[in-house]
Amino acid sequence: MDELIYAANTGFALTGGLSAAAANVIDEFGTEESKALYLEKIYSGRWSASMCLTEPGAGSALGSLRTQAVKIDGTADRYKIEGGKIFISMGDHDLTENIVHLVLAKTPGAPSGTRGISLFIVPKFKVNPDGSLGAHNDVVCTRIEHKMGIKASATCQLAFGDNGSCEGILIGKENHGLPYMFRMMNEERIAVGLQGMALASAAFLYARRYAAERKQGAHWMRRRDKEADDVAIIEHPDIRRMLWWMKSHVDGMRALLLTTSYFTDMSYAHPDEDERRRFGGFVELLTPICKAFCTDRGFDATILGIQCLGGYGYTSEYEAEQFARDAKIGSIYEGTNYIQAQDFIGRKVPMNGGQVLMAYLDVIEEDLKKAEADAELADLAKKVRDAKAETERAVVHLAGMEKDNELGFQTFLHATDAVSMMGDLCVAHLLTTQASSPHKKLPPPAALT
Ligand SMILES: Cc1cc2nc3c(=O)[nH]c(=O)nc-3n(C[C@H](O)[C@H](O)[C@H](O)COP(=O)(O)OP(=O)(O)OC[C@H]3O[C@@H](n4cnc5c(N)ncnc54)[C@H](O)[C@@H]3O)c2cc1C
Repeated sequence: MDELIYAANTGFALTGGLSAAAANVIDEFGTEESKALYLEKIYSGRWSASMCLTEPGAGSALGSLRTQAVKIDGTADRYKIEGGKIFISMGDHDLTENIVHLVLAKTPGAPSGTRGISLFIVPKFKVNPDGSLGAHNDVVCTRIEHKMGIKASATCQLAFGDNGSCEGILIGKENHGLPYMFRMMNEERIAVGLQGMALASAAFLYARRYAAERKQGAHWMRRRDKEADDVAIIEHPDIRRMLWWMKSHVDGMRALLLTTSYFTDMSYAHPDEDERRRFGGFVELLTPICKAFCTDRGFDATILGIQCLGGYGYTSEYEAEQFARDAKIGSIYEGTNYIQAQDFIGRKVPMNGGQVLMAYLDVIEEDLKKAEADAELADLAKKVRDAKAETERAVVHLAGMEKDNELGFQTFLHATDAVSMMGDLCVAHLLTTQASSPHKKLPPPAALT
């Protein structure tokens, strides 16, 4: 469902997606009172929600944030909030009666860096104990951000407490805000990968339809015939190259995202505790790959989509250019793709002494061995196994160098390449697995035969 919604309008789709993720954080870490006051209204769509992390001096480096939270005497969990946030998706709009902001802030004397960050529920309108709306909570939109894409998402700058009357409710314990927020961010990172794939898919379908209709140039088999009629550009090998690149990536990324979502379900629902832990490890390992690989390759696919349409693709008369403008944000928000690469190579690869990575590579190995037994797939499966060995060697080598202060430069220089390699491997593995399933007996889609 999310794929359809993101492909139709990524900007607008952010409203619902962010609200549900914010509600999940309150559901998991909030007090019973907060759950009763906020959850039903957010989940039902009567109220929306936002996540407020970024500040002018704190983007990738969240530890530098300056928004302050000072406890209000005589209350259990109420704080006065003061500070400013920028680039807040759906930070202000008139679509819902109330907007519930989840705000990262620091309490006086908190430890420096990310260890001293706390998380607060800060509604636009205060909420009375009976659930009705109270006074305005001194949260003001001070600027609307003008962006290259996702224009249906209201991104804005917010001032909290300029008049000294903004109140927030602490979620969980002081200084534990970042892990709580990461509960939401991990989910959102997979969702952002999905945005990249959905836009790539829309760009592919659009380009394929256009290429089947647009006639230019002779068929390559009649290239020496001056009298040859123009044929649909989908007949030209270079257009096929682009469409095949787009399609194989879309199918592969969809498989990766669905597989990771299945692992997520199993990490909660599997009856065996060890299995839940094993699946949870795979989700952690694959989350930065889903986010960074699917948004980078998704964007590349939208650029190829423009190319398939030629000059028409560059004009705003057609949607191809919008897919690219909407897709670009995916590599920037929810932690830039470099931050994902750093997380992958610096944290996820060495996790549990590298055991999670090795366990996942074993899964890949097993599947490829099965595929190799199929005569039609043996060559392909062997190539993917070779790629697996190369990827393992490169990723383990890069992660190992991080321990050395100077060699660490090389680790971070090539971290993005490591994500790219790992993403290619995961996608190649899943496509090979799909090819070895009975579905390969189905006829190929008509438009690409
Ligand atoms: C449309 C839009 C919507 C957004 N929505 C939200 C939202 O709802 N809530 C929210 O809190 N924020 C939101 N953001 C903010 C977004 O998350 C940040 O822009 C992002 O985290 C990057 O921060 P920055 O812009 O300050 O870039 P910077 O952190 O300044 O990064 C600039 C460049 O430097 C690189 N870089 C930074 N640190 C390092 C490092 N240590 N090593 C190597 N390279 C590094 C980055 O990868 C990037 O390429 C949104 C942004 C946009 C544009």
